[in-house]
Amino acid sequence: MKRGTLFIISAPSGTGKGTVVSRILADDPTIHFSVSATTRAPREGETDGVNYYFIDRPAFEKLMEGGGMLEYAEFCGNLYGTPRGPVFDRLCEGRDVILEIETVGAMKVKAACPEAVGIFILPPSLKELRRRLEKRGTDSEEVIARRVAEAKSEIEKSVNYDFVVVNDDLEAAVSEVKAVMKAAKSMTKLNSDTIEGVLSKC
Ligand code: 5GP
Repeated sequence: MKRGTLFIISAPSGTGKGTVVSRILADDPTIHFSVSATTRAPREGETDGVNYYFIDRPAFEKLMEGGGMLEYAEFCGNLYGTPRGPVFDRLCEGRDVILEIETVGAMKVKAACPEAVGIFILPPSLKELRRRLEKRGTDSEEVIARRVAEAKSEIEKSVNYDFVVVNDDLEAAVSEVKAVMKAAKSMTKLNSDTIEGVLSKC
């Protein structure tokens, strides 16, 4: 059986990454979404085991030290990490897996799994990102300024990803990410077995 493809999707907060990923998962239930562990408190509407595994710092550190995390990173004072087991189990079953993670963790996954495909979702501009954060109305002017500055430094890291998609229009962005995921599955780096299989059958 052909192994599934590991996709890493990153984007600054306010880019609509969560909505894009939800749409992709709804349209293709065979894709496995990797549920991360985090030490941050659940937000309203979030469910343990669905959005995240909400655990405390000692439990997180125990998992980390036991090698149970594929990657982890600290973001805004909280730890976030990808439980290793389910990712490789699903890939071995031939299912594609999406990690929705920030840039430091993404680079760790790329180093550990060079076959992973990185997709970075960009806002149309920093100006538009600021406008969206202001419209959301959940953050103070100071927090918005910090988020925009963080977004800028994350966007600078997008050059380390295989693909970038601009989320100007949601429908267009969803279609583009799907197209990129489909195309990525034909990359030569993911098809050495296919090539060998063809060569071996004379
Ligand atoms: P939030 O607290 O808004 O849900 O997530 C904050 C950031 O952490 C987002 O950029 C999100 O993609 C990232 N994140 C979520 N899960 C993980 C994870 O397992 N590892 C890493 N490195 N980042 C994560």
